[in-house]
This record gives sequence, C-alpha cells and structure tokens, in this order.
Amino acid sequence: KKYIVGLTGGIASGKTTVANLFAQYGIDLVDADVIAREVVSIGSDGLNAIKQHFGQGILLADNSLDRAALRAKVFNNPEQRLWLNNLLHPMIRHRMLDQVQASTSAYVIMVVPLLFENHLDSLVDTTLVVDIAPELQVSRTMQRDGVSKEQVEHILASQMTREQRLALADNIIDNQGEHEQLRSQVFRLHQQYLQQATDLET
Ligand code: ATP
Repeated sequence: KKYIVGLTGGIASGKTTVANLFAQYGIDLVDADVIAREVVSIGSDGLNAIKQHFGQGILLADNSLDRAALRAKVFNNPEQRLWLNNLLHPMIRHRMLDQVQASTSAYVIMVVPLLFENHLDSLVDTTLVVDIAPELQVSRTMQRDGVSKEQVEHILASQMTREQRLALADNIIDNQGEHEQLRSQVFRLHQQYLQQATDLET
C-alpha cells in the first residue's frame, strides 16, 4: 500500500511549481493532465471509442483527437458529456493507480487540478491545496498564457471557489509569497508525508 498525496489548487495556483519541488526530493509524480492526454492519444482504446461514438469527424488529418470538435460536441450537452466522462474517467483512474503502484518513492504525489470536483480525493490518503488569492490567479494566468482578464474569470467561475477548496484541504500551501517561502513549506510537508508514509506501513 502506497501513501498517496492528492495535490490540487485552482488555475495558476502553482500546482506544477509545487509538484516539481517535491520531485526534487525524489518523490514520484502522477499527473492527471498528462494521463488524460494519454488515454486519448493516437491509436488508444479511448480515442477509438470516441471515434466509434462521434464519427470520423472527431479526428484531425493526422488521426489525433480534434479537441475543439469534441468540446463542441459536449458543450451544453449533458448527455454526451456524461457519456464521455463515463468512458474516460475510469480509464484515467485506472492508469493513475497503475502509476502509483509502479512508483518506488517513499510516497507519491498525484497532481489533479479537479481533485474535489471529480471526486478523485477518494483515491488519496491526504489532500494538499495550493492557495493564492483570485486576483493573483488572474494576473499570473494572464502573464503566463497571454489571455484576457475576462477569459481567466470565466475559468475561475467554472471551478470550485477558494473557500470550498480550502474547507476540504488536509494541508494548505500559501503560494502568494516568494519562491524561498514556498520551498520551506514544501520541505516541512515532505517531512510530514515521509512520517505518514512510515506510519501507514506499521
Ligand atoms: P494550471 O492549473 O493552470 O496548470 P498550476 O497550478 O500548475 O497552473 P503553475 O504553472 O505552477 O500553476 O504556476 C502558474 C504561474 O505562476 C506560472 O507562470 C509560474 O511560473 C507562476 N508562479 C508560481 N508560483 C509563483 C510564485 N510564488 N511567485 C510568482 N510566480 C509564481
């Protein structure tokens, strides 16, 4: 049995930044975004099922998934969205747990942007939320992605609120300060998780 930390946070909160700091201590990362792309990669069972269901038009010329076309199919269509989620979520879940089992580090970090929204917190032993104020989410996303304030606010509105997420967190990382402050919080949590992983074994 592996000790699993579920790392989450809103858009541009710093999940990737934090995950990479844990990786520097030799901790293996399981990234839900990476796996979500793998299960619909060219030639995958997931992509084949999508093609059977929506037709050849859902593929681009190189046989990869036309993400914009798929988004259009499920946009405002709860039935099709449910079909897609019922197909992909079990595949993603399965692959994530496979990677956890293959890991050899003392514990594993699962990076899942919608950990609570998609009820994946049931898979993890403890949850860690990276927290920043919504105003910082807006400015950091605009800076990183070159998008408008309105676009970021639209994404924020589609996610759980800061208060809802914090209420569900076992631990919280404040990422509003300097990188050095982040590093020391990660170090303390790493020690805590090493201990919790050991406790799990005994
Ligand atoms: P997403 O949910 O969009 O994938 P994320 O939660 O993984 O984002 P990161 O990509 O780690 O967030 O960080 C978002 C942006 O904010 C990046 O451009 C990153 O360099 C920057 N950033 C992260 N932490 C800090 C910090 N403490 N100070 C300033 N900028 C930061």
